[in-house]
Amino acid sequence: MTSTGRIDVARCGACGCLSDLGRARCPHCWDDDLHATSVASRGAVYTYTVVHRNDTPEFRDLTPYAVVAVDLDEGWRVVARLEGDPKGVAVGAAVDVAAVHGPDESLGYVAHLAI
Ligand SMILES: [Zn+2]
Repeated sequence: MTSTGRIDVARCGACGCLSDLGRARCPHCWDDDLHATSVASRGAVYTYTVVHRNDTPEFRDLTPYAVVAVDLDEGWRVVARLEGDPKGVAVGAAVDVAAVHGPDESLGYVAHLAI
């Protein structure tokens, strides 16, 4: 996987809300004035779960790992796999998130506990 080091989103020119790239209209105000932008990758864990078993070949050897929902500081929420020991994760913990592309160019996110 390769990291892009930033989180790409769409910002609505009418209301300023963030949404996924690729949408035709803002999901908040339904305006079509959407522009690609990027947001800071720092945020806080909103919630998480720890995966102890995953039979998918790419993840089988990574267990146990945490999957975290992260509220980014600029107002966007992403779901990411937390790299490292899941024992250190907690609701509210500061994390850094990076977008990663797998070998098939699929987009995902990984998070690290902030120091
Ligand atoms: Zn809008």
